[in-house]
Amino acid sequence: MTKGRAALAVAIAAMIAAYFLFDLGRYLSLDFFKSQQAAIDAYYGAHPAQTVAIYFATYVLVTALSLPGATLMTLAGGAIFGLLAGMVIVSFASSIGATLAFLASRFLFRDAVQKKLGDKLAAVNRGIEREGAFYLFTLRLVPLFPFFVINLVMGLTPMKTRTFYWVSQLGMLAGTLVYVYAGTQLARIDSLQGVISPGLVLAFVALGLFPLVAKKAVDVIRARRVYAKWQRPASFDRNMVVIGAGSAGLVSSYIAAAVKAKVTLVERHRMGGDCLNTGCVPSKALLRSAKFVAQARRAQELGMASAKVEFDFAAVMERVQDVVRKIEPHDSVERYTGLGVDVLEGEAKITSPWTVEVRRTGGRVDRLTTKSIVIAAGARPLVPPIPGIEETGYLTSETVWGLRVLPRRLVVLGGGPIGCELAQAFARLGSHVTQVEMLPRLMTREDPEVSEMVATRFRNEGIDVRLGTRAKQFVVEGGEKVLVAECGGQDVRIPFDALLVAVGRIANTAGYGLEELGIPVTKQRTVEVNENMQTIYPNIYACGDVAGPYHFTHTAAHTAWYAAVNALFGRFKTFKADFSVIPWATFTEPEVARVGLNETEAKDKGVACEVSVYGIDDLDRAIADSEAHGMVKVLTAPGSDRILGATIVGDHAGDLIVEYIAAMKHGIGLNKILGTIHIYPTLAEANKYAAGVWKRAQVTTGQLDFLTTFQAWMRGGAGFGAVLGVLPRLLSDKRRALAPEHGASASARAS
Ligand SMILES: Cc1cc2nc3c(=O)[nH]c(=O)nc-3n(C[C@H](O)[C@H](O)[C@H](O)COP(=O)(O)OP(=O)(O)OC[C@H]3O[C@@H](n4cnc5c(N)ncnc54)[C@H](O)[C@@H]3O)c2cc1C
Repeated sequence: MTKGRAALAVAIAAMIAAYFLFDLGRYLSLDFFKSQQAAIDAYYGAHPAQTVAIYFATYVLVTALSLPGATLMTLAGGAIFGLLAGMVIVSFASSIGATLAFLASRFLFRDAVQKKLGDKLAAVNRGIEREGAFYLFTLRLVPLFPFFVINLVMGLTPMKTRTFYWVSQLGMLAGTLVYVYAGTQLARIDSLQGVISPGLVLAFVALGLFPLVAKKAVDVIRARRVYAKWQRPASFDRNMVVIGAGSAGLVSSYIAAAVKAKVTLVERHRMGGDCLNTGCVPSKALLRSAKFVAQARRAQELGMASAKVEFDFAAVMERVQDVVRKIEPHDSVERYTGLGVDVLEGEAKITSPWTVEVRRTGGRVDRLTTKSIVIAAGARPLVPPIPGIEETGYLTSETVWGLRVLPRRLVVLGGGPIGCELAQAFARLGSHVTQVEMLPRLMTREDPEVSEMVATRFRNEGIDVRLGTRAKQFVVEGGEKVLVAECGGQDVRIPFDALLVAVGRIANTAGYGLEELGIPVTKQRTVEVNENMQTIYPNIYACGDVAGPYHFTHTAAHTAWYAAVNALFGRFKTFKADFSVIPWATFTEPEVARVGLNETEAKDKGVACEVSVYGIDDLDRAIADSEAHGMVKVLTAPGSDRILGATIVGDHAGDLIVEYIAAMKHGIGLNKILGTIHIYPTLAEANKYAAGVWKRAQVTTGQLDFLTTFQAWMRGGAGFGAVLGVLPRLLSDKRRALAPEHGASASARAS
């Protein structure tokens, strides 16, 4: 605690203690005030300004210190100054006092509370930033919520002081009026409880409900306004139309069919969308073949004299398509029709909030009416407008699967997950790959040491990793394609045979009615949705890549659940999409998997954390597999085993991380992971050992000293007095005692 904080804490504590010690509360009782009222009135008559000043200062002090007595002070205000003047004086005094209490709570406790509960409060903080004024107003309207509790709690949130002040003043007016008026009738009041009758309580509750009702009404009016220019059909053919049969669209329509809704799924291209046809499935199939080639190259490491792999690149790419074909039935028209989904192959266009036109192959147009629409139109590769790129030609994650001849020299533009996976696959299959990334490291979303592990492995495997290198132009020189890039102020020229662009993906938001309906897109160019995955039209939802914020198959399925359930049952209950525990993996070698915060994000967001790292180079199973590399890195809240995030680098990281995903989702801490039997020898043991690193780092020198003396006493080597002698150190010495063991490191970093 800083000196300033300590001084303020002491001053406040002293004043509160004095209040109770000297029983000052007796002066803030109804009986005392009544007994003194004549004298106070006389003083007010003789010294009006002084009376107002004394009253005002006392009121501010009582409320700023959160002392009991604000009710009496308000009544007294009415009794002394009358209704109008009393209202004005009390209104300002109570608002200023409340704001001082708010500021004191903020100054003394906010940092500590936010640090301790950081991520847990993230949703509350976001809510306060968005609608804090509204909630405060509601709370203020109902004087049943203790006045001082609201002041202190709001001080812990990110609410602006100005907002707190004016909303409090406005919100408390009704309550102030009632109490000040009661004060003008003081002779008829026997107790403070008597001020408020049951009828008045009901009136206040109604008043408190008013803003909530008003908000609902605003929502209805807003919805009415967006629908105003559209003709609503009298009835609908369907409960739901889903646009796009990728991961998101398939899940939405599956859910709808499962709850017996009449649902039509429209797909213009291939069932299964990006994941099945051009994304997860073919990329993982290609990586598998490439991994086999890479492992054969490591034959000697595994005790073989040699191993030679001969392959035909075209056959490898055919295997990829075979894998796609094998998984295809899971997403097929037949399967979904069997599940009760009406599948239409064609291009969908939303023509009104309740109608979707489908241009079928062959030109026929079907017009569907529907109660709700789920947009699951996905995303496509982003191709940056670099001069010459169209002329030299390029591949993307959509077209690369058509290759049947291995490019001799491949430039991969982009160091994100897709660029990294494909760069490694092609390099292992024999292309000379140059990976060009504008930023200073690969996979910039991950921590720097993770990027470094991947880049080192890539370089060791022969990939020419060019970081901090910006593609400027593509040219043809002497019949050869050349990328002109800039690195550290110098132009570099990289000749290539094929270019793979993997610099990001962009949501499909054009050409199917969003513009005509005025559905806005965000700065990230995804369809704008609220937390219910709802667009500005309450019956039109969006999910998956088209809505973001994450671009994964599992998040597409996750958001699809919210879109479908809210679309079908939102009239009765809505569910806010929960993005609190989102995992992902990049399937390079080393594999990288993450859930929750990493260290970089924790620092950026000011979330204090302890970092525990277990090096997988130490793990028996990894050593036996000749895969002894990587790490498990876990972030925990300081002084607690609550997991804030985990990153795993190494073999099967994407599978290993599931233990941490489940732990975070269900509030399981590292102590429980440590107390769980993990099978020996497995890679999963790394998760337990990371928990062990954390646990060891919690031991203090005081605890160790105590244990040493205790064990000596048990052996008869020390007297009981010695044990008692170290007890104070056990309680007071909180310095961390143990250095981390072999390769593992643990550190406490508070940002
Ligand atoms: C190379 C690569 C590897 C990847 N690897 C992984 C991975 O390992 N793990 C992971 O989780 N994610 C991975 N992803 C991301 C994943 O593929 C996507 O996040 C996921 O497929 C998104 O699903 P979606 O349903 O939102 O969109 P999509 O799958 O793109 O589906 C959208 C569908 O909508 C259709 N459509 C669009 N407009 C219309 C219209 N007007 N009418 C009718 N139909 C329309 C499209 O044809 C498309 O089929 C990878 C992506 C790529 C490119």
